[in-house]
Amino acid sequence: MANVTLRNVRKAYPNGFEAIKGVDVDVADGQFCVLVGPSGCGKSTLLRMVAGLETITSGEIDIGGRVVNQVEPADRDIAMVFQNYALYPHMSVFNNMAYGLRNRGMKEAEIKTRVEEAARVLELGTMLTRKPGQLSGGQRQRVAMGRAIVRQPKVFLFDEPLSNLDAKLRIAMRVEIRKLQRRLNVTSIYVTHDQLEAMTLADVLVVMNGGQVEQIGNPLAIYEKPATTFVASFIGAPPMNLMSTRADEIKSQLGSAGDAGILGIRPEDFVITDQTPAGGVALSLTVEAIERVGAETFVYGARAQDEQRVAATPGELPPGEVIVRIPGTEAPAIGARIRVAAIRNK
Ligand code: ATP
Repeated sequence: MANVTLRNVRKAYPNGFEAIKGVDVDVADGQFCVLVGPSGCGKSTLLRMVAGLETITSGEIDIGGRVVNQVEPADRDIAMVFQNYALYPHMSVFNNMAYGLRNRGMKEAEIKTRVEEAARVLELGTMLTRKPGQLSGGQRQRVAMGRAIVRQPKVFLFDEPLSNLDAKLRIAMRVEIRKLQRRLNVTSIYVTHDQLEAMTLADVLVVMNGGQVEQIGNPLAIYEKPATTFVASFIGAPPMNLMSTRADEIKSQLGSAGDAGILGIRPEDFVITDQTPAGGVALSLTVEAIERVGAETFVYGARAQDEQRVAATPGELPPGEVIVRIPGTEAPAIGARIRVAAIRNK
């Protein structure tokens, strides 16, 4: 069993900067955990601490029931896959995969068995004699995965492994990694700043901001019920519409005077309609921009001047702007006045 547990983990760099400010995370055996957050939030630092590449200032990291704070990286039973692949250019695919095993003094026969098995799983069987320079980006990425697999680690650690790939390959490799992880059933921790990658890969999603965990849980549960405005605007694209319940138009509909909070409505939860549904919220918008992306259309509308928006967080819309996501390609004209409505607490 290889669960990974972080208990009140902190990291202060030698210059005094506190990059991790007390983080608790539990990853169960075989689970896929994704650390997501904006640049500088500390996700790589946290992953490197699990790997043993960065010291732990305080708190505990436990892998498979053993506190590893003082354990060398090589003895942690983990394998890390990096974004730059870190392949040896002069070595064949076979030797790239075999390298770590030879370093450990494993017998050649066993190395051959392991490399060939990994190559089969990764569909690299016909490429074992090639050099990395003779491979595509996706194939190189698979060799990097192969190097991790042959070690048969208890835990895989991924540091933005797909960020050097083009958009199409990224999606293909994302699906590959998930299938592979399910098949091998190895506990995994994956770092990305891409919220879509995070949503689609994670069993457990950890949303980080400023060295702290903002929210942790099932990705869809986080999407449905973001705990903070940061999470609400970071998870989901286009971002959730966040509006102050003090705004005149909204306050009058909510009814409860002094109910000063934030109302969050996902773009897909609005419909264009003149009706105000029971228990719903309706807004008047002037259409400012339209984006057609094929299966759906994003309508950007401006709200009335008197409405205030909550303080901007990363990924948030400019004040007074609302995004409505509608299926298909039919959309109102730019400049049109429209009414949109959403059911509250759906
Ligand atoms: P990115 O997505 O840009 O890689 P990240 O979330 O992985 O970001 P980290 O690399 O973990 O962020 O860095 C977290 C914070 O710690 C950043 O503010 C960074 O500037 C700081 N930091 C990283 N390494 C050091 C260091 N050696 N000394 C001081 N501060 C550091």
